[in-house]
Amino acid sequence: MPTCLITGANRGLGLEFARQYAADGWDVIATSRSLVYADDLKSIEGKVELHALDVTDFARVEALGQSLRDRPIDVLINNAGVHGDPTEAAFDDLDYRTWAEVMRINVMAPLKMSAVFVEQVAKSRQKRIATLSSKMGSMGENTSGGTYIYRSSKAALNAVMRSLALDLKSRGIALVILHPGWVRTDMGGPHGLLDPPESISGMRRVIAELNVENTGRFVNYDGSEVPW
Ligand code: NAP
Repeated sequence: MPTCLITGANRGLGLEFARQYAADGWDVIATSRSLVYADDLKSIEGKVELHALDVTDFARVEALGQSLRDRPIDVLINNAGVHGDPTEAAFDDLDYRTWAEVMRINVMAPLKMSAVFVEQVAKSRQKRIATLSSKMGSMGENTSGGTYIYRSSKAALNAVMRSLALDLKSRGIALVILHPGWVRTDMGGPHGLLDPPESISGMRRVIAELNVENTGRFVNYDGSEVPW
């Protein structure tokens, strides 16, 4: 069976990715910032192995890459992310230190993960990378302003992942940038429009149809294109 590696798999969308792939018999390499708060993940039945990983700890990312160096990874899922600015501060009231931290988690870490695990993806059968972005990073969809920190992090993530998709195409690796919908998780809150199972089922369909011909797109959970 194929193998996937998921960051931030202890709750929210990452947890549901782990549940669904495990239910389909995949080998799931699930990472969580802390294994102390990972009881839901630990209770998943199937072939799920857990690794503690704060994605901003690049030395630890490299060490995990080294310890998994012989494992082909069919689908690398860069899921871990933060909003970082729940009060959605005004442009003249931003916490610049928080902004820098959010850029490290949401932009630099997914690229670091991809760089460290690219050889394992290259030697797999499916050769796919999926990165969780957000419509909030879209210029075309931004009609309401505000949310500077989160929007800019996801916009930068999109730029980084688009370049990576083009750079990896010749190696047969395909990459998709995903908007999961507005989902009822800790981040999405109770008023979201979707529950995780629906969002994840949709994104898994998109990932299953991913290939080097359609690589580098920004796609909604239902497969429709999101404007950059
Ligand atoms: P969530 O419920 O807040 O869960 C976020 C996950 O990311 C948690 O597992 C968290 O771990 C992990 N994480 C955060 N910082 C990390 C770090 N430094 N190292 C390792 N793990 C870290 O969010 P979600 O709704 O599942 O969102 C998942 C992804 O979808 C995010 O990239 C988010 O931006 C994106 N997204 C979500 C929505 C939505 O409506 N929910 C919409 C658009 C995009 P801890 O438990 O340790 O904090």
